Amino acid sequence: MEKNKQTDLLEKIVALCKRRGFVFPGSEIYGGLSGFWDYGHYGALLKENIKQVWWGQFVDGREDMFRFDAAIVMNQKVWQASGHAKGFADPLVECEKCKKQFREDQIGNSRLNLKDSEKVQPLPARTQPDKVILAGTGIVQSSGCPDCGGRLGEARQFNMMFRTHVGAIEDDFALSYLRPETAQGMFANFKNTIDSLHPKLPFGLAQIGKAFRNEIAPRDFLFRAREFEQMEIEYFVRPSEWEKSFEEFREQTKRFFTSLGLSPKSVHELEVPDNERAHYSKRTIDFEFDYPFGRKELSGLAYRTDFDLSAHQENSGVPLEYLDEESKTKFIPHVIEPSFGVDRLVLAVLSSAYTEDEMGGDKRTFLKLPPKIAPVKVAVFPLLKNKPKLVEKAREIYKMLKKEIDSVEFDDNGNIGKRYRRQDEIGTPVAITCDFQTLDDNTVTVRDRDSGKQERVRTEDLVKKINL
Ligand code: ATP
Repeated sequence: MEKNKQTDLLEKIVALCKRRGFVFPGSEIYGGLSGFWDYGHYGALLKENIKQVWWGQFVDGREDMFRFDAAIVMNQKVWQASGHAKGFADPLVECEKCKKQFREDQIGNSRLNLKDSEKVQPLPARTQPDKVILAGTGIVQSSGCPDCGGRLGEARQFNMMFRTHVGAIEDDFALSYLRPETAQGMFANFKNTIDSLHPKLPFGLAQIGKAFRNEIAPRDFLFRAREFEQMEIEYFVRPSEWEKSFEEFREQTKRFFTSLGLSPKSVHELEVPDNERAHYSKRTIDFEFDYPFGRKELSGLAYRTDFDLSAHQENSGVPLEYLDEESKTKFIPHVIEPSFGVDRLVLAVLSSAYTEDEMGGDKRTFLKLPPKIAPVKVAVFPLLKNKPKLVEKAREIYKMLKKEIDSVEFDDNGNIGKRYRRQDEIGTPVAITCDFQTLDDNTVTVRDRDSGKQERVRTEDLVKKINL
């Protein structure tokens, strides 16, 4: 029963996203393309607002962070050095009957297999507990095809990087990949950063950008997509100081989630056990969220040691050491990596904000978004669309507010009830209506999204009153 309710919630969110212009299935008019999604106006605004909160809290509000924006396609040697070219794989199984493909570790009791070090070995490239290479002939037991119950074939490694060729000749030398994570662009530019900015340890590089993974089974709406966005920080520290920075980012991550409206009760920390981590990672915490389809990874925090910089130094031949002026020593810094998926955050935010209640005897749906991430902050309406004086006055107020508040919308479509419903569904915290009294005394009604309560406010006090 509870499960149905939750599945129902996901369906409702997907429907609202389409109906109100947040998110659409990718390539929909041609039948879609699994694992790709397009953001419409309000979705793009929501996503951008989440990113701005991240920039503000993790980067611009600190003195030790620098922005970065690397190319998506890099020399294939980057991915050889990082280990992705060989090992960024998921175990794929195919049903012999219906031919559907699944990620082996997502069906049956795979978590048990992961703990069996005889059968699996961790990926060299990333701290992911469920990305494993099946070692030797270790055959994994599974309970049959989740769809038709048919026999599943043996698991084989499937590299999840999208391949491409750079230039006109499609040979091995021209081979490259769409990046599966933003991180490597920052590691590969460590020397450029040191030489141009001369930062002192500890310091971080921060980047938001697209990442691509040819997921075997994309699913759960935005949760597991083939094209998605990441917000990643590579924070370089002295080896002896990693724990302090790790704890700081752990706390900052929790504050960040709270400021996006995620209840601390729905966020859980999973300390990834030693035998499920990649060999270079000394510690990893997965932050999991109670999505409508279950508790799943929202973001990760990993202590990546000096693995990546050392690998790039060794493979490129370029020294990637840091000269510590205090101790006059040279060493390769260690790295703490907080890594967030923007789309998983959008889905977590929507799941938290989606609310149904009753207002004036009618059922209504609204998004209880924190005002700072709401796509539209204030909506302005004339009570009636066919009264030019009201429309003119409402436009005047709209223009006045637009100068002060970043996202204001003018709306005169349909009747006032419909406009409130639409603004509630896109999560607009405040709606202002100009009525006939406005023409007399220059006051308007200000309606609060959550309570539906209205009060009259003088137009000159509006900005102060709204105070978002
Ligand atoms: P999962 O185990 O769910 O596949 P992961 O451990 O592989 O995730 P990481 O490699 O740690 O994920 O990537 C960092 C972040 O990028 C994740 O915490 C998640 O927010 C996001 N992310 C990873 N894969 C996807 C995907 N396919 N679709 C959307 N977001 C993703």
